[in-house]
Amino acid sequence: MELKREYVNGMNEQGDFDPSSPPPFRIADIRAAIPKQCWIKNPWRSMSYVFRDVSVVFALAAAAVYCNSWLFWPIYWFAQGTMFWAVFVLGHDCGHGSFSDNAILNSVVGHILHSSILVPYHGWRISHRTHHQNHGNVEKDESWVPMPENIYKKLDTSTRLLRFTVPFPLFAFPVYLWHRSPGKEGSHFNPYSNLFSPQERKLVMISTACWSTMAIILAYVSFTVGPSHMFKLYGIPYLIFVIWLDLVTYLHHHGHEQKLPWYRGKEWSYLRGGLTTVDRDYGLFNNIHHDIGTHVIHHLFPQIPHYHLVEATKAAKPVIGKFYREPKKSGAVPFHLIKNLITSLAQDHYVSNSGDIVFYQTDLNLFQLLSLAKYE
Ligand SMILES: [Zn+2]
Ligand SMILES: [Zn+2]
Repeated sequence: MELKREYVNGMNEQGDFDPSSPPPFRIADIRAAIPKQCWIKNPWRSMSYVFRDVSVVFALAAAAVYCNSWLFWPIYWFAQGTMFWAVFVLGHDCGHGSFSDNAILNSVVGHILHSSILVPYHGWRISHRTHHQNHGNVEKDESWVPMPENIYKKLDTSTRLLRFTVPFPLFAFPVYLWHRSPGKEGSHFNPYSNLFSPQERKLVMISTACWSTMAIILAYVSFTVGPSHMFKLYGIPYLIFVIWLDLVTYLHHHGHEQKLPWYRGKEWSYLRGGLTTVDRDYGLFNNIHHDIGTHVIHHLFPQIPHYHLVEATKAAKPVIGKFYREPKKSGAVPFHLIKNLITSLAQDHYVSNSGDIVFYQTDLNLFQLLSLAKYE
């Protein structure tokens, strides 16, 4: 009996590449292609990035206080917000255990870094682990999960507009930490939230306590230096950090020129889900934010430290072939990504309620409301 082979190396019978086809390689093949040194975590090297970023944060703050000039404040806000984001990425390494092999060091450094930018370390770490373990799964993924049509249709027009009009989605992160995404319940601060298992409650409690301590410190400093000064020193950089986080994490999983597949049931696998992530070139920011744009290999192997991701990606690309989406080369500033973001928000609204391989669909009414036909 002749076996029907629908796909060869991801190509269908017409010779077109289908990104939702089962890949012709295993995750072990990718792992084998990545050089041995890429798996080595060097705590000294990891700590050197912490010292680098923390020094820049304090130097910028000192310069802002010293100058206290409206000419310098906007530069400070952007630079400091970008540094908060870089600090977040180092805490992300701690959360994955790619910072070092020492669990205590990872937890201590992770708590200090994340609490300083008002992120509850364990709460976010655990839900981020859920994201990695279920990425691309419509039902189980965390953060920026596509809404099934029935949930989308229940949203009122103003909520839809808020969710899909720039800049509002770029401020989603604090809302997500407190309330999760539409259709899901739970807070990253509540140990009894259904984001966590009973064994994780203590850890979540510790992180919420650290977060609260930071909030108290900020309130105290605010009283001392005045709330408007504090808003300029910390508040606006925090908002810029939130924009960075939402922009980068959204673009990891959306806004590619070709539609990305999402899976349910038997069609989903760790490998197929991970392969739907997208690498991005952020120009001069690649180094500043610790190569967070190399997301495919990070998704599949989160134990690789950030400083080996570029090398690991290069080695893995020949195995992944067409399933790797080569990022568009950026200039010094990645302006091209703004178009990806706006177009995707205007078009990628919901997925079908059924089907094991689904793609984003567009709510034409909303699309017209947003008057973004010119981006088509
Ligand atoms: Zn991701
Ligand atoms: Zn991660």
